Amino acid sequence: MDTSALFGLEQVPADWEAFVTEGVLAELEKYGDRRAENLLPMLKVSQATSASISKVRDAARSTGDSVRLSPVDVEVLALALELGAKVVTDDYSIQNLATVLNVEYLPRSMKGITKVVRWNYLCTGCGKVFREHHPDCPICGSPLRTTRKR
Ligand SMILES: [Zn+2]
Repeated sequence: MDTSALFGLEQVPADWEAFVTEGVLAELEKYGDRRAENLLPMLKVSQATSASISKVRDAARSTGDSVRLSPVDVEVLALALELGAKVVTDDYSIQNLATVLNVEYLPRSMKGITKVVRWNYLCTGCGKVFREHHPDCPICGSPLRTTRKR
């Protein structure tokens, strides 16, 4: 997980083995995210080897992401590469490079995983929105479509 993924996060999903690097921890402390203290017991701290770091740097050079990636970003990707893990990040450069390196990534919308997602039901006919589920629209009888509550 990179720093962007951890901001505002209350909990790491219970079935995850979540890793961060020393650099991510340092960033969390720097920005003074108080939640970091709560998250820490759920995180494992590890470092990537210099071999995988150079692999990520090489890939970054080839895609032109070098300038946009911080040393911490590189660290996070290198560690994911090594562990065969997914990167959790909102950073587009990291996502871009992850694709190149065949590392899977998840955007931070995984907040939806730790929080209950609330759904609305939108009528495809009359456009009325319902909070509760119906087999079809009680007003016009058209099918309802599920939408995520904003
Ligand atoms: Zn309707």
